[in-house]
Amino acid sequence: MTQLRYLAGYPQPVLERVRVLLAERRVRATVAQRYPDAHSVRNDRELRDYVGELKARHMRSAPPLAKVAYDNRLHVTHDALGTHTAISRVQGTALKAKREIRIASLFKDAPAAFLRMIAVHELAHLREREHDRAFYALCRHMEPDYTQLEFDTRLWLTGLEFEPPLVPAADSPTPPSS
Ligand SMILES: [Zn+2]
Repeated sequence: MTQLRYLAGYPQPVLERVRVLLAERRVRATVAQRYPDAHSVRNDRELRDYVGELKARHMRSAPPLAKVAYDNRLHVTHDALGTHTAISRVQGTALKAKREIRIASLFKDAPAAFLRMIAVHELAHLREREHDRAFYALCRHMEPDYTQLEFDTRLWLTGLEFEPPLVPAADSPTPPSS
């Protein structure tokens, strides 16, 4: 049976529905239909502004971010949901934590809602280290639809893993030139 690593922990009936969709090769199409809107956050500077704006709106008092970047070393197979690091440096007697948010580069081509989900997820880690109740409450405070978006992001990653890319059908009619 296909291991759905991005959906580990979800209830069996949910996983069964996903397996049906996969068998019919409809995961990518289903996600694309539900989330037609792309985003325009193309590079690290735009990502820093995007995450900074979310932070200013919801988490103004959290420690400042030293770095926000897309990272193409984060692979689909590993930490596609991003990484948050707090690099501690001893400076004299003070311990300063340098906060970084890295988001897997594949999110450049994600639906807009999924980039928001991952940005919210990583921002929430500024306050809550573990994936516990307090963490998810904070995520939902920033994005009320967070729970659904996280599931759908995981479904999207599952589609990327198991389904070939959507390509236009070869026999689709060419639109008339105007
Ligand atoms: Zn996390």
